Amino acid sequence: MKQLLILSGKGGTGKTTVAGALIELSKAKALADCDVDAPNLHLITKMQGQFATTPFYGMDKASIDQKRCIKCGACVDNCRFTAISDDYVVDPYACEGCGVCQLVCKYAAVTLKPFIAGKLMLYKKNKLFSTAELKMGSGNSGLLVDSVKKQLIKNSTDEKFAIIDGSPGIGCPVIASLNGADMVLIVAEASVSGVNDMKRIIKTARRFQIEIAVCINKYDVNDVETKKIEKFCTKENLLLAGKIPFDKKIVEAVNKGVSIVNIGDSKAGAAIYDLFNNIKTFFAV
Ligand code: SF4
Ligand code: SF4
Repeated sequence: MKQLLILSGKGGTGKTTVAGALIELSKAKALADCDVDAPNLHLITKMQGQFATTPFYGMDKASIDQKRCIKCGACVDNCRFTAISDDYVVDPYACEGCGVCQLVCKYAAVTLKPFIAGKLMLYKKNKLFSTAELKMGSGNSGLLVDSVKKQLIKNSTDEKFAIIDGSPGIGCPVIASLNGADMVLIVAEASVSGVNDMKRIIKTARRFQIEIAVCINKYDVNDVETKKIEKFCTKENLLLAGKIPFDKKIVEAVNKGVSIVNIGDSKAGAAIYDLFNNIKTFFAV
């Protein structure tokens, strides 16, 4: 199964708008949302409420047995993450599961226990859709993204093409989402920070030796930065697959909970159609 991964250097660049439109145009049957901190692809793909869920266990967390604890304080003194309160209760969101408290406790009052850090969700009707939600304040988002992708692949049958909405930024979840992708489409914003974010994500993606394509969102709001992205793509021999203009109809589409290509007479929708034509041969869709 070939994977198109859609990324942006930060949130709010229109990544999910592009992902939703490409899902609609390509009729992709396999989808994943790797934005585990704030998943929302299910809203525009209308797949809410029908998921099989599986608990996601992150790292183990310490737990103190109050009956065994003699309140000697050794665990509090040795916890580098100040995760243990003065009354010897572990805060699971501060605990990093290092196990030091268990080592220093001479009274066997500490155990490390599995901790549910979120949930994996899988939709399996007319489309295969893998996603997840991380509990607020939990770590391990990279591991959860990896599980989202594995869940998609494990459950796929004859799906030939998958669209994966990545998470914003350049951290662990993004690196986890790059693994196994065939092409990464970077949605760049025409702004000073947008150009920098794009360059950083390209640097990361290149380590994975993945085909890279770029599209500029709201390209007509800043000619100077748009030209910089165009020049950069030419110089670095990257495919500039599309340029999407600012379009108020995107707000209309979001409010209606539909993809921009389902809103008539939309400049942005037409541009994403062109973008799709520029990348579809790579995936033979
Ligand atoms: S080290 Fe063990 S006995 Fe001492 S306070 Fe911590 S849990 Fe209690
Ligand atoms: S496992 Fe490590 S981080 Fe968690 S409470 Fe014990 S010492 Fe602190």
